[in-house]
Amino acid sequence: MPTTVVTDLPAPRLTDTFGRHINYARLSVTDRCDFRCVYCMAEDMEFLPRSEILSLEEIYAIAQGLVNAGINTLRLTGGEPLIRNNILWLIEKLGALEGLQELTLTTNGSQLSKYASELARLGVQRINISLDSLDPLKFKQITRTGNLEQVIEGIDAARAAGFKQIKLNSVIMKQRNDEEILDLVNFAIAREIDIAFIEEMPLGEINEHDRAQTYCSSDEVRQCIEQRHKLLPSKKTTSGPSRYFKVDNSNSHVGFISPHSHNFCSDCNRVRVTVEGRLLMCLGNEHSVDLRTILRDQAADKQALTTAIKQGLLLKPERHYFDLNSQPDIVRFMNMTGG
Ligand code: SAM
Ligand code: SF4
Repeated sequence: MPTTVVTDLPAPRLTDTFGRHINYARLSVTDRCDFRCVYCMAEDMEFLPRSEILSLEEIYAIAQGLVNAGINTLRLTGGEPLIRNNILWLIEKLGALEGLQELTLTTNGSQLSKYASELARLGVQRINISLDSLDPLKFKQITRTGNLEQVIEGIDAARAAGFKQIKLNSVIMKQRNDEEILDLVNFAIAREIDIAFIEEMPLGEINEHDRAQTYCSSDEVRQCIEQRHKLLPSKKTTSGPSRYFKVDNSNSHVGFISPHSHNFCSDCNRVRVTVEGRLLMCLGNEHSVDLRTILRDQAADKQALTTAIKQGLLLKPERHYFDLNSQPDIVRFMNMTGG
């Protein structure tokens, strides 16, 4: 009888207890950052001691475990991923990781003039760049330490580097940058890149502003854009939670990430890994698995990581509940969460 040789095994498929297919992980490669954005961090931040942070080799081992478990898309984030020492070593390894279909990165843009072409060469396909203001003074007030000119140079370096997609991310806050919505859209259109507007989430306790008062819903942002531009329905999807529209007469899309006004949990396809090696099942809940302990346990075998990831998924909650009018339930800041 002829024997059948199976050469192409089907990719593993991860499904949670609510039937959602999980194929996307965001890896925070550092909790540190050269900016202190007012919605993301407190002014005086304490960062993790070095011993608690995963080494780049450990992050790579976790990435392998995730891909073995069924993840096919990775996003590197932080903190600011491009200020981690030797980050290009990790990116090169991930760019060559078998089974990984897409490697992406989220950055504040400050280091992009230095790194953009190298990132594209090493296999980063899509890149998100945060940009909340086009006014140098306001940009400085929102980021506390950032330099707008440097970030715009970084955006232009990314455009020249030839990524498959560049998307700007803007967190809109009333009385802070809401009057810049159209300018930000026009900036994206002029550069033929996309832009997503994010509703601020109550992660970590901040006292720079009252999140309930500065809250600006995606519908308000959309109304503002529609005063000037026609937004056409679009089938565009990315691995993230944005709902996209094509801006008429342009090569740009506008996306809305609406954790408050349009809950996206039913379509959630992702998990996060913090730089301490906590596999977080949900942005707005604390269910997690400690992968660092498994990694550092000499007795654990390679399979132990993949098994822990698969079992951890059973903890994934159905949805998040955010309330801007009370103290945040989630004390970890976005730089710890890996946005
Ligand atoms: N440093 C990089 C950057 O700023 O793009 C990557 C990490 S940052 C935490 C990732 C994204 O999270 C950024 O687009 C940022 O605007 C967003 N973000 C941070 N804190 C947030 C919050 N409290 N609510 C909503 N978005 C937030
Ligand atoms: Fe840094 Fe990004 Fe947080 Fe701003 S949003 S403080 S750039 S990690």
